[in-house]
Amino acid sequence: MMTMKTPNGAAWRDLGRRSALLLLAICLASGTASAQDKGTLDPEPLPALAKPNDPATPAKELFGRKSEPAPMAARTIGFYAKGCLAGALALPINGATWQVMRLSRNRNWGHPSLVQFLERLAAQAPKTGWHGLLVGDMSQPRGGPMLTGHASHQVGLDADIWLTPMPDRELTRPEREEMSATMVVAEDRKDVDPQVWTPAHFNVIKAAAQDPKVQRIFVNAAIKKALCREAGSDRGWLGKVQPWWGHDYHFHVRLVCPSDSPECTPQPARPADDGCGKELSHWFTDAVLHPKPDPTPPKPRPGPRMADLPPACRQVLMAP
Ligand SMILES: [Zn+2]
Repeated sequence: MMTMKTPNGAAWRDLGRRSALLLLAICLASGTASAQDKGTLDPEPLPALAKPNDPATPAKELFGRKSEPAPMAARTIGFYAKGCLAGALALPINGATWQVMRLSRNRNWGHPSLVQFLERLAAQAPKTGWHGLLVGDMSQPRGGPMLTGHASHQVGLDADIWLTPMPDRELTRPEREEMSATMVVAEDRKDVDPQVWTPAHFNVIKAAAQDPKVQRIFVNAAIKKALCREAGSDRGWLGKVQPWWGHDYHFHVRLVCPSDSPECTPQPARPADDGCGKELSHWFTDAVLHPKPDPTPPKPRPGPRMADLPPACRQVLMAP
């Protein structure tokens, strides 16, 4: 199991000074789990909560116990990192050119627009030289905060796609729980690993970024560096790709708010340029590459409570 690099205080402050809005928009995308957290073949059912109606109960404890979607019309409610999802669809665990990983997590749920996007990208993948998609976490059946991992992925519009092409066969259940994705970042963190990175990696990320429904893609800064270098003159899509901590093994695709979801809170736009200049070089400064260890260990955060989420999430949670 790997742990994600989390930003230390200095790096946060520095980044915040550069662009408070940007930070606000993206900090919530950071999480602690990754494709590298292994799953299990027989997940233990979670014990019932003693006081589920206690307003102090973290919402993740409630949404984390829902194994079926809310049978309502599909809509996303709230913000990517503070919301929920009604009428979710599951991405089938096997398609011609995709397979879902870590089935024990039960996180292959999304707004129909996310399921359609993944099917669209999977169909396109072989034409780009990428054999097919290994899909990691999407959302829980009713979205909402998760007991482990991501701060975002709450409204059915985020999906993690492994930087490992799909093998030419159906993966077994144990493989889907235990197989590791591919680390594409070089050991010095300054670039991609040339032994691992291929033109197909570039192509599949570009294909995702060019999809009109894609709002943003999060990758490790070294990956963004490679994309900037290899993009040539066709650079319009690069601006959607944002460096972020922890995306060494997968890329994270975030879709725009669907038209059927007036309660979906959109994400502020990124700067209009390709992001290959100052913003990118900041990620390779010593302060970011080699952050000083924080002397105070981070406090565990319980995350939002029901009262912190949009009121409609209560109906999503309580639906039969
Ligand atoms: Zn993600």
